[in-house]
Amino acid sequence: MEVKALHSFNDYGINERFLTEAAKYPEYQLARVVAQYRGKYKVATAHGEALAQISGKMRFDTEELSAYPAVGDFVMISSQDGYPEAIIHHILTRKSLFVRKAVGVSGQAQPVAANIDTVFLCMSLNQNYNLNRMERYLSIAWDSGAVPVIVLTKSDLCRDLPDAVREVEQISSFSDVVTLSMFDTNITEKLAPYFFKNQTCAFIGSSGVGKSTIINRLLGEEALATREIGKADRGRHTTTGRELFPCPLGVVIDTPGMREMGADSADLSKAFQEIEELATQCKFRDCTHTSEPGCAILAAVADGRTDNRRLASYLKLRQEAGYEGLSSKEIEAKKLNRMFKEVGGMKNARKFAKEQQKRK
Ligand code: GDP
Ligand code: ZN
Repeated sequence: MEVKALHSFNDYGINERFLTEAAKYPEYQLARVVAQYRGKYKVATAHGEALAQISGKMRFDTEELSAYPAVGDFVMISSQDGYPEAIIHHILTRKSLFVRKAVGVSGQAQPVAANIDTVFLCMSLNQNYNLNRMERYLSIAWDSGAVPVIVLTKSDLCRDLPDAVREVEQISSFSDVVTLSMFDTNITEKLAPYFFKNQTCAFIGSSGVGKSTIINRLLGEEALATREIGKADRGRHTTTGRELFPCPLGVVIDTPGMREMGADSADLSKAFQEIEELATQCKFRDCTHTSEPGCAILAAVADGRTDNRRLASYLKLRQEAGYEGLSSKEIEAKKLNRMFKEVGGMKNARKFAKEQQKRK
């Protein structure tokens, strides 16, 4: 397949960190998950692409959905002559992870995409424009470990661009705000500063805001053809199609699960930094910031330092993420718990807790 000849394994976002960790498993080969199907994966390796499944041991040991591979994961595989599929034995430590609540009763966190360095939060400057939505994206992104960059699309449809940018900058916390339109000839140049060498980027945003338009531009003509082939195949066979693409600037992840995300897991401490700071000054430690006397946030709303919309957005996300009524310490514990489940089940978490206690 000529598609493979277009890229070498080095174009798949590998860096020193992953190479160092991979060296701990000399018996296996490093690979990166480029697509995911029911129970199967497509991986890029130094020898091209291969289908893979997880080892029996991994299946047996894995208690949590989030400990299964996701698109973007670096994995250690083995392949055997005569067998069509490679075996995935280990997932290398993730730099970042996007999860969503699995459908069904378990409600567990299901991995959607891993090792994204920068995530572009896309919102168009027409009907889709909505500050609450952007606050939601920011909270999800900060929780994942990826760095969010706000991308305001369809700038050609905006009547007062400076005004819109000003408004978004008020909620952007630590993120840059980039505006663009499909009529710009310099889309790639505008996004290039966020692709440090070999980095992996992804896009979040409602359907129709222009994500494909941007991604196609980043991929360039040649790769676009590859992508179209992949897309067409996706419907017919479940064994082809790619969701991770090398592009001239770096690597792009475009999985269906990534595009629209719910705030099942959110980090409000950066997206709502000023609100969380105010909360520490509320009179009651368990203040719900709705009606209590001595609420520092309500006081800030009253004198215009923040507004009702932002407070309502904050309270809603807190509730969705299941953090309602929890102190920041308890939220931290909840996250830590989840993190340990990711890296190797509760057994490891218990071991870690014991070691921590010994140290005290
Ligand atoms: P996606 O669903 O987020 O991937 O959005 P698409 O990239 O498929 O774009 C959806 C529609 O919006 C298409 O008809 C595009 O031509 C159009 N579109 C994308 N970017 C722009 C833009 O900057 N300005 C205008 N006016 N239309 C755009
Ligand atoms: Zn309060």
